[in-house]
Formats: sequence, structure tokens, C-alpha cells
Amino acid sequence: MCNNIDSNKIDLNSEPPLDEPARQFYFMEKCRGYVSGLKERLGRSPSFFIQTFGCQMNFHDSEKIVAILERIGFVEAEGENADFVLYNTCTVRENANERVYGRLGQLKRVKKNNPEMIIGICGCMMQEEHVIEKIRKSYKFVDIVFGTHNIFKFAELLYARLRSGEQIIDIWKEADRIVEELPVDRKYDFKCGVNIMYGCNNFCSYCIVPYVRGRERSRTPDDIISEIRRLVDDGVIEIMLLGQNVNSYGKNLDTEITFAKLLKEIEKIDGLERIRFMTSHPKDLSDELIEVMAASKKICRHIHLPLQSGSSRILKKMNRRYTKEQYLELVDKIKKAMPDISITTDLIVGFPGETDEDVDETIDVVKKVGYDSAFTFQYSRRTGTPAASMENQVPKEAVTRNFDRLLKTVQEVAAKRTARFEGQTMSVLVEEVDSHEEGMLTGRLGNNTVVHFDGGRDLIGSIVDVRLDECRGFYYIGRQVNINK
Ligand code: SF4
Repeated sequence: MCNNIDSNKIDLNSEPPLDEPARQFYFMEKCRGYVSGLKERLGRSPSFFIQTFGCQMNFHDSEKIVAILERIGFVEAEGENADFVLYNTCTVRENANERVYGRLGQLKRVKKNNPEMIIGICGCMMQEEHVIEKIRKSYKFVDIVFGTHNIFKFAELLYARLRSGEQIIDIWKEADRIVEELPVDRKYDFKCGVNIMYGCNNFCSYCIVPYVRGRERSRTPDDIISEIRRLVDDGVIEIMLLGQNVNSYGKNLDTEITFAKLLKEIEKIDGLERIRFMTSHPKDLSDELIEVMAASKKICRHIHLPLQSGSSRILKKMNRRYTKEQYLELVDKIKKAMPDISITTDLIVGFPGETDEDVDETIDVVKKVGYDSAFTFQYSRRTGTPAASMENQVPKEAVTRNFDRLLKTVQEVAAKRTARFEGQTMSVLVEEVDSHEEGMLTGRLGNNTVVHFDGGRDLIGSIVDVRLDECRGFYYIGRQVNINK
């Protein structure tokens, strides 16, 4: 029984239901029939391997596909020598596509030794027409191809391939519905990502996402809250609300709802202990959101607030729609309301037309904000984006030189910031055993900083108090306290 759909009651002799997700559960049962036949032939359960590239939304999509494959009888394999291999692709950076084509070439050789092998490819890269033409013409050995808008149809597409043996390509230009009530195989039992919206309308001039993830569309608050209630009933205590730009949540819904109001409703869910969200665009981070965060007991004291560049001139060319001054004002407002807040960011070096002085501006913002950490990227000229055809593409030497000096500042500032909690006792969500040291556990503070401390596996999935004895750059070594609390 998953999400009130009892697979025993699905009549496989009748036509597939039209409504979702019932239709997909029908095809999961249909696939299960094929897989048990395969199992007999192989004398073992068929195996699968999924390689996921890119952002948290892609990893969350892969968790759904894993759950469907396990439900129909596949078992997870360690590597690509599996009966079903799927690439869930990202296309943000130019060389991402080349890397996938290279991997497909290797898979072709593996498939020669295992003709029953099924190869699938999905994700953002598949939303590009020239990629689909290339797959259709030169990668005929790839069996299933689908995009970001119809990932929920995976079971139906797999069934079509199992039945026909033909290459199945199903790409939607735009999404016409949101289907979320599908099984999810969470990486962690106690924490999980929850999509609240899809797509992006911001069209930053360097970014391909709006072209491959489509226009912004939000899930209804009822759907989101009922999913979170189910997750909490299932043992989840921390959720990460996911969207390309969560601040514009609700704009396409009939009901009057903002992201801040949604958070207030989610905060009311008993049993939920921590709420995280990503990603926030600075142009529409509201005062209302700052107030709700400051008053909240559950929303973690961490905001990921991509700056990209500290130069207002470059921000204009990036179509980011805020200036250096506006960004700094926003950060001041956030810090006034929440002095212990952790702010992280994304930074791009080498955007067309960028000068050393522009990078000085970025370094200035890094120092003024005091980021706990920053994802720092060298600009990737992405075909299909306005920036790719801009003049004054920056020479590699200058990009590397500026990237190094920016990274140096980011690391110096982050190390100082991270150390500010040394000696304090803070609550840690215990996530796993420390893979580097026997007997140690790894967990995260509310602000996402990693902590290692002595403790038993039974603590995994719970929130405990840890005294932060020593900061070692970007993580802490601590000691559990208040054990009998
Ligand atoms: S906000 Fe800008 S960078 Fe982020 S996904 Fe949208 S277009 Fe891309």
C-alpha cells in the first residue's frame, strides 16, 4: 500500500487508468510481471544503477526512480555493470553534456556483453532538442529517454520499452501537471527533500535552467503539507523544501499564499523538528520571510543566498535584478533579525566583460557579509544562454587568477565564521557513522555545519546536544552532553 493505492486491487486486465498517480502504479504492476520473468531467466534479481548529476532536485527525482525500480523487483548494484543503468543528467555547465556522451560510449561496450541490458537517460540535458536529435541518430542503443517534466511517467515508459524492445523517447516541452504521490526511496530515513515548486522565470543571462525546467509552477499548500505529514508519520524529522527560487512560491496559484505563509503552516506540523529550504533569489526575499524565520523554532538558521557577483555592473549583465548595495542591505536586515544566522552563497568568476575591479567588488561583499561557505564557480559559456553570445569573453588566465584570489578570501572568511560557535553546546542532527574514524558519528548543526563526536549508531536520526570543543576549519569535533535529557 503506497499513498492509498493498494497494488493488489489494481486490475491488470483492464485498460490503464487515466488519472495519476494510479496510472503509474498500474504500470509498476505491469513491469513487475516482466521483471519476474527476467528474474527466472537470470536466476537472480535484475540489478540497477543510477548516476545522478547536478542539484538537489535531481537527487530527489532519482530517489523516486530508485523506489519504483525496487518496487518492481530490481536490486541496486554498486556500479554500471548492471541490467538497468540510468543517467539523471544536469546541463548547467557546458562540458556536462560531453561527459555524459563519453560515459554512454563506455556503456555501449558493456551492453555488447549483456544484450538484455537497458540504458536510460533523463534530466535537464534531455530538454535540449539538439541533444535528443543526437541521441536519436547516434545513440540508438539507449533504450529510454525522458525529460524533467514527465519524470513521474518512468514506470509507463519502462513498460513500453520492456514490451516493444524499441527505443522510447518521450520529451515534453512544458509540464502540464505535477504528480508527486509516487514512492520515494529516501537516502536518509529521518530527513528528506520536498519539492514545493518547479521551473524558473528569472532568466539569469548565464543560466540554462529556465529553458530546461520550464516556467515556475507551485504545488498547492495542501499537497505539500499532506506529503510532509506522511513523511513525519514515517519517521522524518527534518525536511528541505526545494525549488529553483522558493521566494516566488505560490505566484501561479489561485489561492493567496506566499513562501513565508507556507512556512508558518509547515511549522505547525507536530513531530517535524527542522525545516530547511533552497534556493532563495535575493531579488524577492521578503521582510515577511525574515520575520517568520526569526520567530520560528523549527526553521534552521541558514540561508543560501546566491550573490553570483559583487559588481552591480556585472549583476545587470547577468539579469540578476539587484545591485551590490541592495544585496548588502538585505543581508543587514537578515542579520539584524537573526544575529546567529549562517549565510552561504554561489559566486561566478569570469562572466563576460568582467574586470579585476569587478572581482574586487565580489571580494568586498564576501568580507562584508562573512559567508560561512560559498560555492565558487568559473564561468561556463553555456550554449543557448544570452551570455554565451556576449562580447568580451574573459581570457582563461584572468579567470583562473581571479578565481584563486576570490577562493582564498572565501576560505579565510569562512574559517573565521565557522569557528564562532567554539565552546558552545548546540543541537546536532546525527546523520551517520563517521567514515573516517571508528566510533565517531557525523551530524549537522542547524546552520548545516558538520560535527564529529563520539557516540553509538543508535543515535543516528536523533537530535542531541553536543559541546563544540574544537573547530577544525569547516567542521567541529565535539562531545555529547545532556545524555540523560
Ligand atoms: S534564478 Fe537564475 S540562476 Fe537560478 S535557476 Fe533561475 S535562471 Fe538559473
